[in-house]
Amino acid sequence: MVDIAVIGAGLAGLVCARQLQQAGYRVVVVEKSRGLGGRLATRRLQNSCADHGVRYLENQGELSQQLIKILSDRHILNPWTATVHQMQDSRLQPMPTSPRYTASAGITAVAKFLAADLEVWRGQRVVAIAPTANRWELQLEPAADEPIPNLRSRALVITIPAPQAVVLIEPLASAVSTSFLEKLRSVEFEPCLSAIATYPTVYQQEPAVEAVTFPQNSELTWLSVESSKRPAIARAL
Ligand SMILES: Cc1cc2nc3c(=O)[nH]c(=O)nc-3n(C[C@H](O)[C@H](O)[C@H](O)COP(=O)(O)OP(=O)(O)OC[C@H]3O[C@@H](n4cnc5c(N)ncnc54)[C@H](O)[C@@H]3O)c2cc1C
Repeated sequence: MVDIAVIGAGLAGLVCARQLQQAGYRVVVVEKSRGLGGRLATRRLQNSCADHGVRYLENQGELSQQLIKILSDRHILNPWTATVHQMQDSRLQPMPTSPRYTASAGITAVAKFLAADLEVWRGQRVVAIAPTANRWELQLEPAADEPIPNLRSRALVITIPAPQAVVLIEPLASAVSTSFLEKLRSVEFEPCLSAIATYPTVYQQEPAVEAVTFPQNSELTWLSVESSKRPAIARAL
């Protein structure tokens, strides 16, 4: 039994759990994957790594500015490129951008920092939630090797993508408003693929272009030379 259960150890869940723990609550984060961070995702490669979800953090308001400052003070984030190129009529146009911050250890370093003092139950998928008298009961997917008891909490925070949240919340239809459920059902995600290509170290040189954006109607959205985020280690495109 804990004060607050947070479902999802992505950026939203970890920031939320930290704030609640700092406010004095006993918090447990439940995450279905073995890794932390959700779409703060880094793929390890031979002698290198590449971010295949969030590409960088940028200042989007007071709270993200605070987070960037905390992470920069601890040398987890560093300023990255100040110029993103835009592909227009098969030509690259340099476009100055607002400061963008990346992690030389890969963007999952942000999640590792945020989770450092938190109790995170990894590899535990929440398959159902039920309100009982003054508490929430979280049912976890049964693991073959180690049976984990269900979790009870006084309050519950759900930070998983809306289409997945609908699956948990729909069975509670009598406890939530129809308009809330409709809003949740209306959220659609556009599918996307992230591709990572590597090339031999013999081609190592300072990249003339670090990142490229493409027009809205293009099938490509973004291309980055990941090694430009971490110059000290071998290159990955
Ligand atoms: C390719 C790509 C590029 C992006 N680039 C950028 C960018 O450059 N800048 C930017 O700001 N944003 C970017 N985004 C968006 C950004 O990744 C998301 O907005 C943000 O990471 C979402 O965080 P979150 O915590 O809300 O969700 P998530 O990161 O999705 O975290 C949800 C977590 O919940 C877990 N979970 C789901 N269901 C369950 C369950 N039933 N039980 C337990 N755990 C569960 C998941 O495993 C996951 O870890 C990008 C996204 C993608 C896909």
